[in-house]
Amino acid sequence: MNEMAVHPRLDIRGIVQPRSVAVFGASDNKDKFGGRIMHYLTRHGFSGSILPINPNRSEVLGHKAYPSIAQAPGPVDVAMLAVPPKALLQAAQECADAGVGCCVIMTTGFAEAGEEAGRERQRQLVAIARGSGMRIVGPNCMGLISPLAGMALTSSLVLEIDSIRTGRIGLVSQSGALMVSIFNRAHDAGIGFSLCVSLGNQCDLEICDFIDYLVDDAETKVICVYVEGFVDGARFLRSAAACQRAGKPLIMVKTGRTPAGVRAAQSHTASLAGSYAVLQAACRMHGVVLTDDPDSMVRLADLLLRWPRRQGDGIGVVSPSGGGAGIGVDRLVEEGMRLASLGATTKARLLDLLLAPQADNPIDLGGRRDGEVAGTAGKCVSVIAQDHDVAALLVVLTTVPFYEATTREMAAAGLASGKPVLVAVTPGSAADGPRRALRELDCPAFDGFDQALRVLGDFIRYDRKPSRNAPRRAEDLPVHPDLTGLSPGRLTEPEAKRLLAQYGVPVTREMLAGDSAAAEAAAKSIGFPVVLKGVARDLVHKSDVGAVRLGLRDAEAVRRAWQEITRAVAAALPNSAIDGCVVQEMVRGDAELIVGARRDPQFGPVVLVGFGGVMVEVMEDVQLALAPVSRDEARGMLQRLRLWPVLAGARGRSPLDVDRVADVICRVSWLAADLGDRLIDLEVNPLLVRNAGQGATAVDARGTLAGEGGS
Ligand code: ADP
Ligand code: MG
Repeated sequence: MNEMAVHPRLDIRGIVQPRSVAVFGASDNKDKFGGRIMHYLTRHGFSGSILPINPNRSEVLGHKAYPSIAQAPGPVDVAMLAVPPKALLQAAQECADAGVGCCVIMTTGFAEAGEEAGRERQRQLVAIARGSGMRIVGPNCMGLISPLAGMALTSSLVLEIDSIRTGRIGLVSQSGALMVSIFNRAHDAGIGFSLCVSLGNQCDLEICDFIDYLVDDAETKVICVYVEGFVDGARFLRSAAACQRAGKPLIMVKTGRTPAGVRAAQSHTASLAGSYAVLQAACRMHGVVLTDDPDSMVRLADLLLRWPRRQGDGIGVVSPSGGGAGIGVDRLVEEGMRLASLGATTKARLLDLLLAPQADNPIDLGGRRDGEVAGTAGKCVSVIAQDHDVAALLVVLTTVPFYEATTREMAAAGLASGKPVLVAVTPGSAADGPRRALRELDCPAFDGFDQALRVLGDFIRYDRKPSRNAPRRAEDLPVHPDLTGLSPGRLTEPEAKRLLAQYGVPVTREMLAGDSAAAEAAAKSIGFPVVLKGVARDLVHKSDVGAVRLGLRDAEAVRRAWQEITRAVAAALPNSAIDGCVVQEMVRGDAELIVGARRDPQFGPVVLVGFGGVMVEVMEDVQLALAPVSRDEARGMLQRLRLWPVLAGARGRSPLDVDRVADVICRVSWLAADLGDRLIDLEVNPLLVRNAGQGATAVDARGTLAGEGGS
């Protein structure tokens, strides 16, 4: 989609640091889009030339105006278009003809409107751009703010500020409204950006174009992204990998957490591997921090910038009150963090300042020995910050005598220690003075517990890992699955198992029988006890309709089971032909797992593991990864299951054969990857797992194949 028919006239740097900007509909009336854009553009030190386009003016805010873009002195790098929808295509065409490098288009009413007419207008817009090499940001965006160029190119009133802070965070937002909200909140918290850009409909330039730019931009150290939909999921993963290689944290908020967009399939895998779950797995594998709140995203970015090298994960908690300290500890444990355990020296030093019960983590400053409040508070913070096990400090700020002075002492001591320090300010207006003091000292402060604890949790968990190596194909794996005889659509259990067996997944010994006599013969050759199951393409949950008979001990039992199963299947599926029954060895297992795979429309093949049977859906205890995975990664998936202790052998139980399960996950993941766009879903449920060293067997499997080319 992003291939340009003509060489692009401008690269991204040229767009964010343009030499000239033309503003369509420029005026000095702030009630109009073109008026606000002109005010903000002229106000923050932009050094390029500003070219108002307005046939009715000779000058706007001191800049010479031109009746049309054709008459403006070129080349014009960027044109800002906030014109009415019906005038847009004409304006874009004039820009293309005049050699404009990039149009930033705020106008709405395109593909986002959901009507064919809007989509058609957007196609025409793209055609105008492609035909000339002109780039487009938008439409339906809020422009961009480029602090390093002193350029605000937006109509948003959040630019009613004296100056734009510069910083080292790059913000790429699909939503324009969120970009300016985030900008505004960050501004209030003293946080600046290297760039803020909104992409709207991403009709030409998309989020990844800007992530890639920011990865290379020396001024940017952390990248924040708000996204509703990816133009190209695979490209996003490449951009994320580039961030990781460059050592730049990538933090993202993505909407659409509800599992929509999953093709209605009847497998558990489809319902459990919804698109957000897949995104979470993709982000984990590529070091992307996924958060659910845009404000927290920027606050986390700020902490990662301030303290890029954190050691350990213990938290030291200090509060003027026992209540504050207590809630702080509860919340941090709930967020999965750990309270630091203080060394003997630290405790001894605290005992000089505090009474015995308070002289430990969390510190309740209420237990002061004597001495004045502020000084003691500062000293306590210094002492606890020096402890080896304290990786970061959380100050829970309740009210205290000499409130502002005490706050200052604590914040200053915390910052001086060099360790990360966050202050959760719990009162309302009573803490206005302390809030100001924290701002003056440039100490990260949060209102209340929620955001402070959430951001601290993400900060402590953030781990600058080297980027992942793609797994290597084991020598005993085939290069392609052999799909001879399999048609698109649902696979029967024996068909799915044959496919899995090609990739070395251990499956039951079994034979398909066309009549009762053949079933008896098969049972004798497999050896009793056996299992008999009905086989029909439309039969999805076999046991639900009585099409599974376990533990058949002799020929008589097989005959009876045959009668019952064929009758049950005929009753359940009156319009569908039964292929017969499959006779299987009866396998023993100590636990039932599900191992599934699915092709995600954004990110391609994914693999899933969880506890099988009814527990799958009740527990929602599953782990996902992009396929293929290595055996180590498969093991990691198992270790992240909540029920991992059951696999590892909790409470005197024998450990299960985790190595074999990891091997099966790995094999299924390669099969999923090799099936490419033929894969819809594939699932082993259950995989019967035995104790360590005794292996695992796929006793049931199903799958759905797409036609050639994924149709
Ligand atoms: P369904 O289509 O209902 O999922 P399954 O083939 O999974 O049918 O059979 C239902 C249950 O019967 C399985 O979850 C498993 O506990 C047991 N089972 C099925 N096949 C075997 C087998 N070959 N050996 C032992 N147990 C089996
Ligand atoms: Mg099953």
